[in-house]
Amino acid sequence: MSRSAATSGEILRLIREDEVQTRADLARLTGLSRPVIGQRVTELIDAGLVVELPGVSSGGRPAARLEFNGAGGRVLVASLGHTHGHLAVCDLSGTILRQEPVRIGAGIESAIEGWQRMGPGAVRGVGIALPGPAHEDERVVKAVREVFPVPVHIDNDVNVMALGEHRVRNDVSDLLFVKASTGIGAGVISGGRLQRGAYGGAGEIGHIPVSDGLLCGCGTVGCVETVAGGAALLAQLGGRAKDLPELAALARAGDLEAVAVLREAGRRIGEVVAAAVNILNPAVVVLGGDLSGKNLIAGVRESVYQRAAAMATRRLRIEPSVLGDDAGLLGCATMILDHILAPAAVDAAL
Ligand SMILES: [Zn+2]
Repeated sequence: MSRSAATSGEILRLIREDEVQTRADLARLTGLSRPVIGQRVTELIDAGLVVELPGVSSGGRPAARLEFNGAGGRVLVASLGHTHGHLAVCDLSGTILRQEPVRIGAGIESAIEGWQRMGPGAVRGVGIALPGPAHEDERVVKAVREVFPVPVHIDNDVNVMALGEHRVRNDVSDLLFVKASTGIGAGVISGGRLQRGAYGGAGEIGHIPVSDGLLCGCGTVGCVETVAGGAALLAQLGGRAKDLPELAALARAGDLEAVAVLREAGRRIGEVVAAAVNILNPAVVVLGGDLSGKNLIAGVRESVYQRAAAMATRRLRIEPSVLGDDAGLLGCATMILDHILAPAAVDAAL
């Protein structure tokens, strides 16, 4: 940033991310004059993005404190699967204020109706996670914008969950999120940023081949998903569980066969995670999704520590999701807030 050209959006970033609290500090950091800082701060206060609070006296007249106004608007988020999902209304700090489950009977319209029912307030943006490869779905964006004419951003469920898990681990800038469910996929955070790749295909670890993999729905032979994806595991259990929550419940109850199936699935997923660890050298691998209980994670650890390079694993943490079902919603909030509160977006909107 050019010091002499700090815009209102950049002033907001200093207040929101770096917690710069006084006009004097803003002037010092940006090189702008006090009157110009005053103008830009007023603009941000008028827009509801900043609040001014009485300062704490340290002798003499206390300087007013500037704070980012998390209550200055709402974002709507949805973490959607093929048949059901969750909706939430969040504030501008990304805190979930209200949430509810939704059935996707009528497509995105079900989510739109749900948000309207929930009393959305002053909406500034919408973030949506959809299953499958990353894409901006034109039809979904158009339908949402007809009701909520604000910025709408869409990403795939795994990328969004990676953003959510990263938000609660802000000491880490390199994180690999692995979702083990019906499909197997990964979200890559590298250098503090989500990596989508050139065409949005980064993180497709479910379709990396393993030695005894079978013919996959993607048309390739050998994908790890064919031996460790949800359908494969249900088949290995010979119909003893009708779906993945039931399989996970069996394992939690100590069913030896279910435990063995999940442990082995973890080892197989660990084979491709080990390769990813060698390439990306993350500080932490987070396991999420229906199947990511302690048995699967133990299997992943076994393979990764055995197969990945010592330099990449020496201090590597492999741990379960801390957000569970909320990872998608909180990740959606992070995604849309990063967009609408970016300096350029704030300047354009003022
Ligand atoms: Zn495949």
